[in-house]
Amino acid sequence: MSLTVQIMIAMGAGLILGIILNMIGNDFINTQIVGGFFGMIGRMFVNALQMLVVPLVFFSLITGVAGIGDIRVLGRVGGKSFGLYMLTTATAIAVAIVIASIVAPGNGFVMDGIDTSGVTGSAAPSVWDTFANIVPKNPVAAFASGEMLQIIFYTIVLGIAALMLGDRSKSFVEASEYMNELMMKIVEIVMAFAPIGVFCLITKTFTEQGIGLFLPVLAYVLVLVGALLLHLFGTLMLYLKLFSGLSPVTFMRKIRSAQIFAFSTASSNATIPVTLRAVTEKMGVRNSVASFTVPFGATINMDGTAIMQGVATVFLANVYGVDLGLGGCLTVIGMAVLASIGTAGVPGVGMVMLTMVLGQVGLPIEGVAIILGVDRLMDMIRTAVNITGDAVVTTIVAKSEGKIDMAVYDDPMAGLVDDDLRIDPAAEERLASSVHAE
Ligand code: ASP
Repeated sequence: MSLTVQIMIAMGAGLILGIILNMIGNDFINTQIVGGFFGMIGRMFVNALQMLVVPLVFFSLITGVAGIGDIRVLGRVGGKSFGLYMLTTATAIAVAIVIASIVAPGNGFVMDGIDTSGVTGSAAPSVWDTFANIVPKNPVAAFASGEMLQIIFYTIVLGIAALMLGDRSKSFVEASEYMNELMMKIVEIVMAFAPIGVFCLITKTFTEQGIGLFLPVLAYVLVLVGALLLHLFGTLMLYLKLFSGLSPVTFMRKIRSAQIFAFSTASSNATIPVTLRAVTEKMGVRNSVASFTVPFGATINMDGTAIMQGVATVFLANVYGVDLGLGGCLTVIGMAVLASIGTAGVPGVGMVMLTMVLGQVGLPIEGVAIILGVDRLMDMIRTAVNITGDAVVTTIVAKSEGKIDMAVYDDPMAGLVDDDLRIDPAAEERLASSVHAE
């Protein structure tokens, strides 16, 4: 059985078990076993993924910059991916607002029993601050706190300097290549535990959430999920076909494991190692492009989050009987695109940023309380859409730069992990004999 199939079974089992446990409602099982033990395993798994993000981005980006070899190409890849990221996010939210306006969820909503106190808003980050902060004052602090844009900036500067030093940097680049390979191997090891990790995460979420939460805001959930799926299978695949000519069916098959990780962890950042692996090893995108576009996208590109913000704003406007008008809708589009640049790819931030969008169009931020209950599941789905957008743009840019190996893209077996996990016997022997020699 392939790993992806195992993970999907684990996901289904977790979903069913979680819903059953939620219905039974046994306090001990739900808090101690599921919340405690399953929660611990799930957290370990997410931590293990996150543990890889910073070193993997660093070493693969050094290798990538050195591999590109030409600063102009690097600038082109940066420009193209930034443009496409903004385009996909803007399309996503525009479509979401149109759909939500037509279906109009939230009309006649009854506010009974919803506690809207205690929701605090977040101030809009200034665009200028966001850009100024890309340059880290202290790279060590940037690495320690996982500031992705700062890490990318610093690493690219380092890579360019290494290129300028030419031959003198050979051993540095080779060491980075080796470290990159080593990190990728750890990704495989962590992924081998994915069925267990995913099972625990999904069981916990559904035990805590149940399905009863959805009924009051069912209209919101349905419109949102519909818009997310439309973007995933419609808009993104259309862009892929249009801009690169690549097969969307193959793409969807190869990105599936990354989508499952994004769904289970609700974090684009934590999924970076898996997305990187999917686009390079399964789709044949050269590391020189992917090492830059994937972490960049995980940080600045959030199509799913923008869709949620669009649908939520229209929904809450209906609930409060406010007419957004064309101006309001355009403000929401602009704010959501900006917010997606400034939002980190971690669970739940989309909701925090929503308060900012609501504030801009004069809607009460307490409204967030109405949809907060269902946000975890919505977060999982939108994160899967977010990372799919990153991968689509990565493949489009790679194709346009001639940096994709089509033989790998078309090979259905490329990059499958399963039998890679044995320890190479020859390597083991070499290690053993060198230890004995000492
Ligand atoms: N969890 C999302 C992500 O990591 C961000 C969000 O919408 O909250 O991409």
